[in-house]
Amino acid sequence: MFANFNTQKSQLSAMRSEPDGRLNAIVVGAGFGGIASALRLRALGYEVELIDRQTDLGGRARVFQKDGFIYDAGPTVVTAPFLFEELFELFGQRMADHIDLRPLDPWYRISFADGKSFDYGGTIEDTLQEIERFDPDDRDGYVRLVEMSRKIFDVGFVKLSDHPFLRLTDLAAQIPHLLALKSYRSVFSLVSSYIKNPYLRKIFSVHPLLVGGNPFDTTSIYALIHYLERKWGVHYAMGGMGAIVAALGRLMESQGVKVRLGRTVEQLEVVDGQVRSLSLDDGTRRRADIFVMNADPPYVYKYLLPAGSSSRLNNLRIEKSEYSMGLFVLYFGTTRQYEDIAHHTIWMGDRFKGLLKDIFHRKHLAEDFSLYLHRPTATDSSMAPAGCDGFYVLSPVPNLQGNVNWDEVGDRYRDRILETLESHLLPDLRQHLVHSFYMTPVDFRNDYLSLWGSGFSISPLFRQSAWFRFHNRDPRIDNLYFVGAGTHPGAGVPGVLSSAKVLQNVLIKSPVAGSVAARKNEPPPNAL
Ligand SMILES: Cc1cc2nc3c(=O)[nH]c(=O)nc-3n(C[C@H](O)[C@H](O)[C@H](O)COP(=O)(O)OP(=O)(O)OC[C@H]3O[C@@H](n4cnc5c(N)ncnc54)[C@H](O)[C@@H]3O)c2cc1C
Repeated sequence: MFANFNTQKSQLSAMRSEPDGRLNAIVVGAGFGGIASALRLRALGYEVELIDRQTDLGGRARVFQKDGFIYDAGPTVVTAPFLFEELFELFGQRMADHIDLRPLDPWYRISFADGKSFDYGGTIEDTLQEIERFDPDDRDGYVRLVEMSRKIFDVGFVKLSDHPFLRLTDLAAQIPHLLALKSYRSVFSLVSSYIKNPYLRKIFSVHPLLVGGNPFDTTSIYALIHYLERKWGVHYAMGGMGAIVAALGRLMESQGVKVRLGRTVEQLEVVDGQVRSLSLDDGTRRRADIFVMNADPPYVYKYLLPAGSSSRLNNLRIEKSEYSMGLFVLYFGTTRQYEDIAHHTIWMGDRFKGLLKDIFHRKHLAEDFSLYLHRPTATDSSMAPAGCDGFYVLSPVPNLQGNVNWDEVGDRYRDRILETLESHLLPDLRQHLVHSFYMTPVDFRNDYLSLWGSGFSISPLFRQSAWFRFHNRDPRIDNLYFVGAGTHPGAGVPGVLSSAKVLQNVLIKSPVAGSVAARKNEPPPNAL
């Protein structure tokens, strides 16, 4: 899967057509997909400008600071760290000199409303011991599930995660493998074919929720996460996810990537099947040879491109796609520490399938919920003042296709979550609260321009994966590229970092060099 980077680089050099031998690229969106793309483009020799409407880097992985507490706003679980390592290696550097990654054990604690609890992670033997406490009959099934996950990983991750799906034939070549792995089945259905115990079925089916999917609908390709976690472990970066973003920010700066924050791209100008320029909210226009969108693809097609430039298939995708769920994320600090709370806890309420149906299908905000609780201070005391704990708790909720008025219900929803945490996990919580603030799907829409305020762009369904997802290069506009959660391979940090590798692979075969040559006599990029 690791393409020969030097060969690609020299192929690309042969394509250069600007007098100084450099192509110009603008990347819109400084999420992990955009940052990784900016670095990969830079390593290929492009002049790169990265633009984001936020005032800080990271996109969903930005950082909030309040009263001495540091909160990672979004992703918290680091898997497949080699994908970050590769970005440093592009410039002859070592990740370990910039980021202090620590393996976690357990990876997650899954707590049930009835008080049962399961520590997931460590070695297979550790997990088998936990399984025995629930149901010894499921031991063998789990071993077979991990083996099945390895087979899915060998195709879904090793072969396909950095492989472009631009043409239907790219998909056709993979169909036999995907059918052999029964990828049309859901994650829950796959897990249930190996595991019988109802608690264990839930425990081993939660992964799709980490990438915006309902375990009952998400393609079983995502069962590869079981093996991905086994292969590389689950990690935490000291200083939080923000420390990774900051290290990548320094790497970009040292390599000459220009970063422009606090500016929203309002329109892309398309002339003769090429994006010619983009306009910003300060009234300026920027030109480049290629444009890479890390912004949400359905939003780009609907609002940034001129009417008529999107293909019929993409219009269909925008209207007919299922969008991932929304997220209610509550950040809070406490004046005491809760030593017995693990770094990552998944707390499951009584309902599972019915609750997921409420969130994903009925789009109805239920009275009950299941929660993910992040306690970085379990590993890293620098994330809160001495003697305190910093947390975030996340509840999957309907996206804005539902009819929830968050201005009206937000505070009440927050209070119910705090009550539940207090009675099940964090005694006397409200007495020890320093502050709290939250994000709803409305904030995801307003801050990240995510269509329907979805947490993870379109859902990870079989019919929305690979060629069926928004392509990494527009089918009509050959200097317009896409990376990030809404494109192949999909959401989650490993997914969006892999999308930047897909970009790199697509660029090598791109016809953009010809188009650039044809424009040689035009004013230089960004001279408008
Ligand atoms: C609460 C939460 C928890 C998560 N937990 C995990 C986890 O533990 N592990 C994991 O692997 N994944 C996790 N994920 C998923 C993962 O964080 C995301 O899939 C991934 O970070 C998205 O990266 P991206 O490259 O798609 O860009 P994004 O982070 O979505 O960034 C896109 C950027 O583009 C900007 N933008 C959009 N439109 C414009 C415009 N017109 N002009 C200028 N800028 C624009 C946005 O402001 C944004 O900054 C989590 C997500 C959330 C929200």
